[in-house]
Amino acid sequence: MVQRKVYLDNSATTVVYCEIVKEMEKYFSEIYGNASSIHYFGRQANMVLDDARNKVALLLGSSPEEIFFTSCGTESNNIAITGILNAYKKKGHIITSSIEHHSVFYLCKHFEKNGYEVTYLDVNKNGIVSIEDFKKAVKDSTLLVTIMHANNEIGSIQPIEIIANELKKINDRKKNKIYFHTDVVQTAGKLRLDVEKLGVDLLSMSAHKFNGPKGVGGLYIKKGTHISPIIFGGHQENGLRPGTENIPAIFGFARAFEISNIKIEEQSERIYILREKLKKGILETIPEVVINGSGNKSISNILNVSFNYIEGEALLLMLSMKGIFVSTGSACASGGPSHVLSALGVNPIVAQGAIRFSFGYHNTAKEIDYVLSVLPDVVKNLRSMSSVWSRSQKKLQNF
Ligand SMILES: *Cc1c(COP(=O)(O)O)cnc(C)c1O
Repeated sequence: MVQRKVYLDNSATTVVYCEIVKEMEKYFSEIYGNASSIHYFGRQANMVLDDARNKVALLLGSSPEEIFFTSCGTESNNIAITGILNAYKKKGHIITSSIEHHSVFYLCKHFEKNGYEVTYLDVNKNGIVSIEDFKKAVKDSTLLVTIMHANNEIGSIQPIEIIANELKKINDRKKNKIYFHTDVVQTAGKLRLDVEKLGVDLLSMSAHKFNGPKGVGGLYIKKGTHISPIIFGGHQENGLRPGTENIPAIFGFARAFEISNIKIEEQSERIYILREKLKKGILETIPEVVINGSGNKSISNILNVSFNYIEGEALLLMLSMKGIFVSTGSACASGGPSHVLSALGVNPIVAQGAIRFSFGYHNTAKEIDYVLSVLPDVVKNLRSMSSVWSRSQKKLQNF
């Protein structure tokens, strides 16, 4: 029998659309010029760059001058946050959420160590910040708000438009503008994004999360935003992100964003049905499971489930042997307790048994049937080796 491969880790990274892999080849072997060169090869490369920027701008409702290409989502977040803070003359206060991706979370911790004050907004059990908490957190010294769009471990979607609206009212009364940055790495290509509607000043993206190549990110910066570069060199990306442009990857970014946007409605509905099928199947066949942070306000492709009395990592490895590939939460967090689940108030023991299933455009109902045919036995076997589980079952029998 052919070993099955069911990839359910699409929030960590995705397969590149096969047509894009083919289309990219030309930009390695034919149109390989440096986009800054003024000869024919350079001009050809520069045209690809312009075209990619125009495509991304059109899909986000921005102007092309407001789009910057970077090397990844992490870099976009770092340029945005550090760049804004460095452009102010004084240190001050930052507002963020307690469930940000590590590239925002640890950056905020870094600034906190270096004399900035940071408010980490709590989230409710569905992983959503409160608008009232946000309004209360704003101070005279606040410089920047950075709150992610959808969370990468549980999929909860923050009310970005509402926060932006409140911030606008506050800014209208203030002398210094408070900037608003959002990390849309998990929603780009999955929800329709419009920078005007979102009302943010800066927005970070990453191509490999929407079936584009790895090593290329995007950053929207609203015209008029005061931002300082964090690396220095040439004039590329208007001096904000110097270094020779990665033309094949940038081309791939724009094409993947374009294809994903065409497929949004169709895919999100299809994927929602797959997720609900898996959720229902798990709840019906496996006792002692907890769905973490699910609510109406979440993206359709993430399901985070705790299997009580077992280690998520053990389950992940057993599933891997069966050809099912999942994650214990965030790929970057492997090994440690998840700050996201702690922020939700999930008991640390329950958090240990957490698994994230994240779906992509290639997943099928047949694959979910396969997972549901394997998972109950794997969980049962692992629990049979757990002394905590056997004690809890004995207690039940004694009742
Ligand atoms: C993956 C991810 C990032 C980091 O993107 P990279 O391109 O891998 O650096 C940032 N934020 C969120 C929410 C993510 O899921």
